[in-house]
Amino acid sequence: MPSAARNKTKPVRELIFGDFWEYDPAPETADPKLQEGYDLFIDGKFVKPRSKKYFDTVNPATEKKLAFIAQADERDVNNACEAAQQAFDKTWSRISAAERGKYLYRIARLLQDHSREFAVAETLDGGKPIKESRDFDLPMTAAHFFYHAGWADKLEYLMPGPKRSPYGVVGQVIPWNFPLLMLAWKIAPALAAGNCVVIKPAETTSITAMKFATILQQADLPPGVVNIVTGNGETGAELMRHKLTRKIAFTGSTEVGRIIMRELAGTDKAMTMELGGKAANIVFEDAPLDQTVEGIVNGIFFNQGHVCCAGSRLLVQEGIAEALIERLKIRLATLRVGDPLDKNTDIGAIHSAAQLSRIQALVESGVEEGAEVYQPSCTLPEQGYFFKPTLFTGVTQSHRIAQEEIFGPVLSILTFRTLDEAIEKANNTLYGLSAGVWTEKGSRVHKVAAALKAGVIWANTYNKFDPASPFGGYKQSGFGREGGRQGLLDYLT
Ligand code: NDP
Repeated sequence: MPSAARNKTKPVRELIFGDFWEYDPAPETADPKLQEGYDLFIDGKFVKPRSKKYFDTVNPATEKKLAFIAQADERDVNNACEAAQQAFDKTWSRISAAERGKYLYRIARLLQDHSREFAVAETLDGGKPIKESRDFDLPMTAAHFFYHAGWADKLEYLMPGPKRSPYGVVGQVIPWNFPLLMLAWKIAPALAAGNCVVIKPAETTSITAMKFATILQQADLPPGVVNIVTGNGETGAELMRHKLTRKIAFTGSTEVGRIIMRELAGTDKAMTMELGGKAANIVFEDAPLDQTVEGIVNGIFFNQGHVCCAGSRLLVQEGIAEALIERLKIRLATLRVGDPLDKNTDIGAIHSAAQLSRIQALVESGVEEGAEVYQPSCTLPEQGYFFKPTLFTGVTQSHRIAQEEIFGPVLSILTFRTLDEAIEKANNTLYGLSAGVWTEKGSRVHKVAAALKAGVIWANTYNKFDPASPFGGYKQSGFGREGGRQGLLDYLT
């Protein structure tokens, strides 16, 4: 029987655990070695902020304070940029490329040595399930340093043509959804290319960045090569506009990316922008349904949906929509929402109260605009910020939940009849970061991928990452690439 016909008739085997079968608690017990508070990391040392101001960082699963974090102001950003410039002029640009590579290898190995401790710290500060920080964030972070270490002395082979040079000081600002991994995406290529760095982590997730500073000290990285300034959006803005930052690299929302570009238009700073997304995950009638369901779940519920490339719009070919949605609902009932430190947890805490309200508001708009909502029955913890995995059916192109980035565990399902309609709907968005295609036919994968306006396209899988593979967007998802040869070229002039 052809796979498309089989998909419409195949009976669904139910495997519902839900509340019937309770797992024993399986808490991760490694010590995250948190300090009471964290200062700034400038010129190889921990220094107090000039303003003497600090703010709290909280655990979103318990709403309890974890530590206090330094608030950097204009003077601290200036000190950090000057330290980076000095390090570039006096040390980093003078040592051999192979030496630079050795530091990166050392950092990668030290991260591996401390990975359990870092994974727990990441989960406590951000709310993501421990199995994700342990099995994805930390291994990928180390992999980025290993990969770029190998490139440090081979830059001349990146592309033919005249030799290219590092910029000098690079200013980098990152978001809260993958705090340590985004830091690695930024710092590893910048250093491999021979630049020095000043980086600002997100206000709500600075802990692993400051722990990373201790790794730099253990690796004996020359002072000033990497400087970490914590603080709010104003700290980020100071860094972006500082006269010494010749290149800036930003990952965050399209809204803030626009503000930065507006302010820096007309300057000679080079820029890369990794912004938001509203990816289409497209399922054709001949897709392998059970695998597709796993891909859809991974695509939207990984990291509570706080993922720029999340497959947040599911486009399903009409003939199999009913069968697929039925399987998805059954699968949703098996997802375990709760304590992020428990190794059985699939969906951890929503990152903050503000993010939870945004998700709630967009879900309410979906109901008001006439889409049908489905949430499995599960009990959410009483404390902390949690949200049930959610599906919307009957979604139309004009609904806010089909257009706006929700950045939460909420899937909007639309249907299509023909390949052209799927492409039209997939491209009907301001964004263009990523997409997924599910079908048995390789030729169809190529045809759809060529027509989609998205920087990353997965076929019969989703959320697969590799440091060698460039990542970045089209349209309002930004410009520039991170990872691979293309990512390195963005750090050379
Ligand atoms: P924001 O844009 O709000 O913040 C990102 C970073 O920018 C934070 O460190 C923030 O500081 C800082 N910031 C805020 N205002 C300014 C400013 N005026 N100038 C300079 N820096 C500023 O995004 P979120 O942290 O909320 O992250 C979620 C967004 O990031 C989503 O839209 C997501 O799609 C996108 N993202 C994109 C990725 C990609 O690769 N394309 C990857 C990951 C996320 P503070 O924390 O203090 O507000």
